[in-house]
Amino acid sequence: MTVWEKYVRKVTPYVPGEQPDNKNIVKLNTNENPYPPSPFVKKAMEGINDEQLRLYPDPKASLLVKAIAKHYGLKEEQIFPGVGSDDVLAMCFLTFFQSEKPIFFPDITYSFYEVWANLYRIPYEKKPLGENFQICPKDYLGENGGIIFPNPNAPTGLFLPLKEVEEIVEKNRDVIVIVDEAYIDFGSQTALPLLERYDNLLVVHTFSKSRAMAGARIGFAMGDTKLIQYLNDVKFSFNSYTLGLPSLIAGARAIEDNGYFLEITEKIKNTREWTKRELRKLGFSFPDSMGNFVFASHEKYRAEDIFVYLKEKNIYVRHFQQPRVDNYLRMTIGTKEQMERFLDCLAQFIR
Ligand SMILES: *Cc1c(COP(=O)(O)O)cnc(C)c1O
Repeated sequence: MTVWEKYVRKVTPYVPGEQPDNKNIVKLNTNENPYPPSPFVKKAMEGINDEQLRLYPDPKASLLVKAIAKHYGLKEEQIFPGVGSDDVLAMCFLTFFQSEKPIFFPDITYSFYEVWANLYRIPYEKKPLGENFQICPKDYLGENGGIIFPNPNAPTGLFLPLKEVEEIVEKNRDVIVIVDEAYIDFGSQTALPLLERYDNLLVVHTFSKSRAMAGARIGFAMGDTKLIQYLNDVKFSFNSYTLGLPSLIAGARAIEDNGYFLEITEKIKNTREWTKRELRKLGFSFPDSMGNFVFASHEKYRAEDIFVYLKEKNIYVRHFQQPRVDNYLRMTIGTKEQMERFLDCLAQFIR
């Protein structure tokens, strides 16, 4: 090793799902929305002029923050936007998880949490999910430096009822509790009403899944004004101009089109429930996902073999080489037509 290499920050990076060039595939591997964004978005994009691109964007992202605040009935000072929720969550780790005590998150969860903890050298403890993959609130009551979990959890899709979320927030008033609600819009109850009572709670949302805008990279945290102020202080010490102007405009227009949003999330929920019934008929079992994906395993066939077979047929799903879940596949809910092609293919393999 050269001398300088001793002083390099060495990290094991997060591995995102594949984004293949091939347009012919059925892409069910990264939980993208199969529908286009609101038509308001494209129209607004066409109106962007040179002057808007020549200048730096508004560092406070006011256009987007105002639209989000209005939509959720919150104050602008309660919204912290970023380049996808990944950026927002990374800022949250850097800002709030500075204690010597370990932060807690589930053992099977969004794998980026562990990556950020390692990157920022934050001590952590992973809390094993229960037998049926459920998060057990009592595991989150010990002394800790902060808590984060997705609700619904990823990649299981299981939703933790609001009462239990509240129990975790309420019994941890001395630390910040982050609820990552990337999949909340597909039919479960948000923790937002708890914000009135708890100033140690942050709720994080994204435009990537339910608003069909993974390409625009927009996420945001909602919480007490004091927490948002601390996040802004760190952000302005890191990169003032996170969101570009096209994303600010796209995000604001998208959130104003609530009718379209409800329409596409409803379609995905219906396709998800239909897909569950079909998967059951084929011998799959799975936790009752409330996300835009199903995390399933087959009684007779190995997940890895199914994964390879599907890929040969140009159908991409996600497989995690990780203890306890390596016999599961995470399948994003696409359009009904995509799911039909996917299920036909599965049926051929399983027959
Ligand atoms: C997809 C996802 C994110 C990241 O979403 P972006 O907003 O696209 O960065 C965060 N948390 C969970 C649990 C996710 O599944």
